[in-house]
Amino acid sequence: MDDLEQLAKLIERSNQIVVFTGAGISTESGIPDFRSPGGLWEKNRPIDFSEYMASEDARREAWRRKFAMDEVMGNAKPNKGHEAIARLYELGKLNCVITQNIDGLHQQSGIPEEDVIELHGNTTYAKCLDCHERMSLDEVREIFQPEETLPICQKCGGIVKTATISFGQPMPIREMQRAEMEAIESDLFLAIGSSLVVYPAADIPVIAAQHGAKLIIINREPTQVDPIATLVLNKEIGETLDLVTKL
Ligand code: NAD
Ligand code: ZN
Repeated sequence: MDDLEQLAKLIERSNQIVVFTGAGISTESGIPDFRSPGGLWEKNRPIDFSEYMASEDARREAWRRKFAMDEVMGNAKPNKGHEAIARLYELGKLNCVITQNIDGLHQQSGIPEEDVIELHGNTTYAKCLDCHERMSLDEVREIFQPEETLPICQKCGGIVKTATISFGQPMPIREMQRAEMEAIESDLFLAIGSSLVVYPAADIPVIAAQHGAKLIIINREPTQVDPIATLVLNKEIGETLDLVTKL
């Protein structure tokens, strides 16, 4: 039995599947990941949270990147990988998707919002960091784009940022707790398209394996979690998931 058949069998026998995704599932939709050659990391060193808070220049650079990135992310569509995962959900086999992505493509592929757990937030709106008042991106764009004026909260004057979690920013507590609970209850845990080096998100697949789930890793390159996995597929994501869910 080859590894694709093995994975198809495991999926057939499991009913509490949890999928965990990283930037790699969205590269086939045209959104670059961070660490691959040509990825975002090579072009832009990430701006961490303390820099964002401390420096107006950093905030300007963050908004500049955000609006440049939106030309790609705003038009991206779910690919074969997202669609295969949505099929598992429709079959009632998948409990939820835990994602590090901020692109909203799992929701667009048909998985209900309440079953997509976003560990690193969402880039489709902005928020005041003090009072959490929401601001739409259209509002921010109107303020920012003419002369790079930084948006401030209209309620309290606080600093406004996209609703994503930057490096150095506290993780969302409810999402992390739910992700851990789902990992513990899963019987099959698929970690897809993540380099598994961003913590604490990368702990979630380990927690699943420690609590008895079979851990499957699908990623182009090896990860440090590979040794505890039941199966590691160093393959392209879209084609692999498409084949496996149709076997
Ligand atoms: P990462 O960039 O560190 O790792 C992506 C992994 O996917 C790499 O190991 C790469 O080899 C693999 N990969 C890429 N395309 C693939 C394909 N088609 N088939 C198989 N493997 C493929 O991503 P990460 O682990 O998610 O961590 C980076 C952080 O950046 C995350 O926190 C995430 O929030 C954020 N991010 C999100 C997006 C998005 O929302 N689409 C994009 C870039 C970065
Ligand atoms: Zn405010």
